Amino acid sequence: MFDPDSWYADEIERTIITEDEIRAKVAELGARVSADFADSASDTGDELLLVGVFKGAVMFMADFARALTVPVKMEFMALSSYGSSTTSSGTVRILKDIDSDIAGRHIIVVEDIIDSGLTLSWLLKYLQGMHPASVSVVSMLRKPGVQRVDVPVKYVGFDIPNEFVVGYGLDYAERYRELPFVGVLKPEVYQK
Ligand code: 5GP
Ligand code: MG
Repeated sequence: MFDPDSWYADEIERTIITEDEIRAKVAELGARVSADFADSASDTGDELLLVGVFKGAVMFMADFARALTVPVKMEFMALSSYGSSTTSSGTVRILKDIDSDIAGRHIIVVEDIIDSGLTLSWLLKYLQGMHPASVSVVSMLRKPGVQRVDVPVKYVGFDIPNEFVVGYGLDYAERYRELPFVGVLKPEVYQK
């Protein structure tokens, strides 16, 4: 919940998604994915594999994994996009790759937010190249109508307006990732 006595009260303009709403949505997504992948381990002989992208997806990954009722393994990747998001060509450099062989595995990419979709589009092609049994995407947030590439995201938490948001893993200049809700910063914050 938004705490008016907290340090962030002076910096957050408003809350877009509350901590309670996040908790309920994570449970709902966890139940859906668990039902859809109930047989994945017996089907492939290995657990469902969650692939999280540093750093933004860490909070969601941790909560989402615990909302599942099927066994999983977890991998993390660190990616760096060339240029700013507005001018990005979709060219991505891998700073940390996954450590395991994903051939024949069911994969779920766990994302914080889909904006242009360029990073995700690149990542899906990269993972498909390793011949997994399937690749699905779950994203906590999505900005609708601004995807420059059409990426298939089967599981979406919330569609949000096209505004810059922080919290629940998302940063501005590496700050605000630890906020338990998603919100919009006051304009003054950007002038600092
Ligand atoms: P795209 O979908 O444009 O390739 O890139 C998505 C990435 O841009 C996200 O993983 C996130 O790191 C960043 N991003 C996009 N929209 C926002 C936003 O509203 N707030 C923050 N903090 N990061 C965002
Ligand atoms: Mg990201």
